[in-house]
Amino acid sequence: FPALTDGPGKRSEMGVLPDEVWGRIALRFGERSLTYGELAGAAGALAARLRGAGRVAVWATPELETAVAVPAALLAGVAAVPLNPKSGDKELAHIVSDSAPTLVLAAPGAQLPEALGALARIDVDAAARGAVPDEAASEEDPALIVYTSGTTGPPKGAVLPRRALATTLDALADAWQWTADDVLVHGLPLFHVHGLVLGTLGPLRRGGSVRHLGRFGTEGVTRELNAGATMLFGVPTMYHRIAEALPEDPELAKALARARLLVSGSAALPVHDHERIATATGRRVIERYGMTETLMNTSVRADGEPRAGTVGVPLPGVGLRLVEEDGTPITAYDGESVGEIQVRGPNLFTEYLNRPDATAAAFTADGWFRTGDMAVREPDGYVRIVGRKATDLIKSGGYKIGAGEIENALLEHPGVREAAVTGEPDADLGERIVAWIVPADPQAPPAAEELADHVARRLAPHKRPRVVRYLDALPRNDMGKIMKRALVADA
Ligand code: ATP
Ligand code: MG
Repeated sequence: FPALTDGPGKRSEMGVLPDEVWGRIALRFGERSLTYGELAGAAGALAARLRGAGRVAVWATPELETAVAVPAALLAGVAAVPLNPKSGDKELAHIVSDSAPTLVLAAPGAQLPEALGALARIDVDAAARGAVPDEAASEEDPALIVYTSGTTGPPKGAVLPRRALATTLDALADAWQWTADDVLVHGLPLFHVHGLVLGTLGPLRRGGSVRHLGRFGTEGVTRELNAGATMLFGVPTMYHRIAEALPEDPELAKALARARLLVSGSAALPVHDHERIATATGRRVIERYGMTETLMNTSVRADGEPRAGTVGVPLPGVGLRLVEEDGTPITAYDGESVGEIQVRGPNLFTEYLNRPDATAAAFTADGWFRTGDMAVREPDGYVRIVGRKATDLIKSGGYKIGAGEIENALLEHPGVREAAVTGEPDADLGERIVAWIVPADPQAPPAAEELADHVARRLAPHKRPRVVRYLDALPRNDMGKIMKRALVADA
């Protein structure tokens, strides 16, 4: 990691970290923290043991050791494969045989499951102090192999070169105006790019600081923001919990109003939550759109104007276009023409590990990555995501309807706690719209007819759900994303 390689006062590809940063807290997890100097020492000592190790797995618990292990691997020039400690044995066994690490890095007390039994283990010592080795890798070398969230199919290992990390973090540092005075409140897991690349490595890029909550909770957010934190990065389920808590928690509202940046990503933030937070705090959440394969694609600048339901504009250096089904690029910024988002730029991954077929299918002949996400561009250039091509675009009665806007409308109904919309085959319509509802009061769920009318009134008659199904909870993965394929499979 460049910031650590260089040491006080020396140049790095990102410029010079101010000398005074080296004595400041870089990372804090619970009661334990490391200054920049200590982090460099611990990562340096570990890096010396990792040189030439090939690929290393990281048992990515939300602890200080994970945040030492990843920079250590970067310093040693070996690719790190973060593992989700909550994965089942089958998923872990798949990831281990797919990525073939030579050893696993873990916190000293961590219990490793059987699936990792055959791997040599190194306990990460956050108190170790060693010299930081010279940079051991070039920018095209793989830095991380991160498995996708598995929302639309089995997780694929995206190989992320050092160049992709560096350019994404610099683009964000620029757009969000990160400085050495920024302190991030972090409550995300450390095995996806959101929590690991943005949340952990991100603030360090400009000498800022990370405060990890261990487990996300609104009390922790209030406490850290009151103690001077300036930024919160979260997924929509976190902002939903915040939106629900705000009416009863004026301290939380005051604390959020103090933050410089509230950022949401990994899935769409429902408009209803966005508006409730804005009303209670006077602050608008910035949405960013990204994915494992491309890191960050779009956002709104810190001094820009976030707008509910949109994810801003492409970050510096990111090429983004919308493309019709037949491959024709859409040039109109008309807020209506729906196309697949394709991305090109230095932020991209190099390949899916061991999946030349999937890698080839993911790129167009001229090198654009097919995201599988559908969007329109507003007249001012903002991107509005309609949903995923595979699960969120419903072709009904000759219309192409995005699940997201129907979900947003349903969530505005007081009787609805959670909502997901899918399509299912229909003899007349091609596909019919199905609404999956978690009622606010399970004893008195809103009637199907009432919900359908509510949607038709707000949007248009052809967007009315034809079927309403009631559930106790929606199936979600560990990033809080709704697993629509599980919904459809259960139907
Ligand atoms: P898999 O690729 O394994 O099916 P996944 O796509 O959920 O899982 P990730 O790479 O973690 O895995 O997530 C990226 C996806 O998340 C994007 O392609 C997009 O569909 C969605 N996403 C991310 N940010 C946003 C956002 N702000 N609004 C809407 N969707 C978003
Ligand atoms: Mg994906």
